[in-house]
Amino acid sequence: MRKLKLLGVLLSGAILLNSCTENQVVTTEEVPGEVLSALANAGYDINSQAPIQFEQGYLVEGDIYFSKADINSLKEGVRLPVEEQYSTDNLVNATGGRVITIYAPEGGRRGFSTGMIAGLDEAIARYNAEGLEISFQRVTNSNSADIVMSRLSRRYERQGVLGSAGFPTASGDPYDQILMSGILESTYGLSTAGIATIIAHEMGHCVGFRHTDYFDRSISCGGSPSNEGDGGVGANHIPGTPTGADLAGNGSWMLACTDGSSRPFTSADQTALDYLY
Ligand SMILES: [Zn+2]
Repeated sequence: MRKLKLLGVLLSGAILLNSCTENQVVTTEEVPGEVLSALANAGYDINSQAPIQFEQGYLVEGDIYFSKADINSLKEGVRLPVEEQYSTDNLVNATGGRVITIYAPEGGRRGFSTGMIAGLDEAIARYNAEGLEISFQRVTNSNSADIVMSRLSRRYERQGVLGSAGFPTASGDPYDQILMSGILESTYGLSTAGIATIIAHEMGHCVGFRHTDYFDRSISCGGSPSNEGDGGVGANHIPGTPTGADLAGNGSWMLACTDGSSRPFTSADQTALDYLY
């Protein structure tokens, strides 16, 4: 099976552009030792998917962006029990209903293809079909948008990064930026549903979802068992979701790694979405 590390380095076969990619990512720009220590102390997995220098900070576990200031404020992590769905401590304040607007530039060198925009629209539709307190709406003006989805730089696209996002703010707003590869369709040949799954995953981080298999990324990523820990941002089990993650069906949309296929919300995903929002 083809396997992509979500927002990370490509693992194998048909979509691996360059067999040296993984080494290049790790060695071209060294992440300082004190940053790695801070991440490891906070419970992040720095081994199975090494952090890389990214924009003005670091990309951790493949797709979670931390600024340098974020690194300085990381709390000590704790290991948590093995169960399925998890949220961060900070969530979007959605009391009374909240429409979260998303802007993505269309066309041109810095914009997204029609297929990528179709993926965004399908991701939005998947959330909105759940009848949650939060809903999403695509807008055509970046000024009014809660979340701006921009293209990764060509350099990161070539490295195999698929996207990145962050977690909600302490004041109850969604994370305001998704950086997304613009070549999911053109280079990797992903379907609209596959693209929608990756964008929906990033949107999930923006509203407070952690990786479903955060406690053992080997479930979706392969390799050795590894535990993300609570990452200093909280990893709160969502009541009503089952113990343990697996790849039944196509698996949760918040699994750490993707094979590029479609992962519509599972029943446990729906329980988790409904509980938080
Ligand atoms: Zn992720």
